[in-house]
Amino acid sequence: MTLAALAAAAISAEPRAKDLFGAKKLPAAVPAQSFGFYSKGCFAGGVALPMDGPTWEVMRPSRNRRWGHPAMISLIEKLSRDAVADGWPGLLIGDISQPRGGPMMTGHASHQIGLDADIWLTPMPRRPLTFAERESMSATLMVDEKTHLVKDALWTPQHARLLERAASYPEVERILVNPGIKKKLCDTVTGDRSWLRKIRPFWGHDYHFHMRIGCQPGSPDCKRQEATPADDGCGKPLAWWFTEEPWRPNKNPDAPKARDLLTMANLPTECQAVLAASDAPSLAAVTYQGGGAAAAVAVAEPQPTEPAETISSGNAALPAAASAFAPTPKIGIPLPRPRPGN
Ligand SMILES: [Zn+2]
Repeated sequence: MTLAALAAAAISAEPRAKDLFGAKKLPAAVPAQSFGFYSKGCFAGGVALPMDGPTWEVMRPSRNRRWGHPAMISLIEKLSRDAVADGWPGLLIGDISQPRGGPMMTGHASHQIGLDADIWLTPMPRRPLTFAERESMSATLMVDEKTHLVKDALWTPQHARLLERAASYPEVERILVNPGIKKKLCDTVTGDRSWLRKIRPFWGHDYHFHMRIGCQPGSPDCKRQEATPADDGCGKPLAWWFTEEPWRPNKNPDAPKARDLLTMANLPTECQAVLAASDAPSLAAVTYQGGGAAAAVAVAEPQPTEPAETISSGNAALPAAASAFAPTPKIGIPLPRPRPGN
C-alpha cells in the first residue's frame, strides 16, 4: 500500500460525525450552549418541543428532530400562539435538530446547533393528526416546479402574515423560502417592507419555511452568520433566481455530501465533550413546558438549599397567559379561527 492509500484508509475508518450524533436519543445534561456554525457544529442543553400543543403539532416524529436550544423552542411556541391570533390555524413543525445537534443521517446541511427550524406552509388541520398521519401526510407544494412561481390558487394573505410574524422577532435573523415565495412577497407586500430583508430565497423550501435565529447569550463559541444586506432583497439578487443558471442540473450528482464526510475532527473540539456528556435524566425532564426557561431549569444542577420558589424565578417576567401551556381563558363564545382557502 502506498502512503496515500494508507492515509485514505485511516480517514475512511474514522467514524462519521452523523453516525455519532444520529445515535443520541437525549441531549447532554448541561446548560444550553451552541458550538460552531449552523452547518458545522453541535449544541448542549437542548430541550424538546412537545409532540402536541394547543397551537402546533410535530410532524415526522420518528426522526426525533424536535430538539433545539431553549430559546428556539420557546420562540416556536410563541410563534404558534401569535400565528393563531393572526388567523393561521396552528403550526405543523418539521425538523428542528437532533438531541445534540450535529450532522444528520439524511437531509439538511444546517440545523446542527439548535437554532434552525422548519415550519410547514400547510396549516394545521382541525382534528389532531395520528402518529401514522404525521409520518405520512404530505405537505402542500406552494411553487410550480417549472416556472418557480407561487401557485396562486394556494397562496393566501395568511401565508404572508405568518412569514411576516416570524420575521418580526428580533431573534430571527433569516427565513429561507423558495425564490417563488420571496417574489410573491416582493410583488404583494405593501406598507412596512422592512421585514422582507430577512426573507432569503433558496432552493427547496417550497412546502416549508426555515426559521433561523442568531447565536444566543451564553454561547461564546457559536459562530455568527453575516448580516443580511439592508435592502428588501427584491432587486437583482432575486432576479438571478429566475434565470436558467441556478436550476442547471448538478454536474456531479454522485459527489459525497458534507454530512457524509464530516468527522469529529471537522467539528469544534467542544463537540467531543457534548457527545461524551451524560444523558439528561429523562425525556420528560427536558421537554419544554412553557414559560421560557422552565425546561432548561429542569436539567440544571439540583440545589436542595434553595427555596422552591426560586426554581421558577426565571419565568417571573412572563405572565401565565403568555404561554400556550396556560389554560385557555373562559371567554364564552369561541373566537372564529379562519383558515386559508385551500
Ligand atoms: Zn431547514
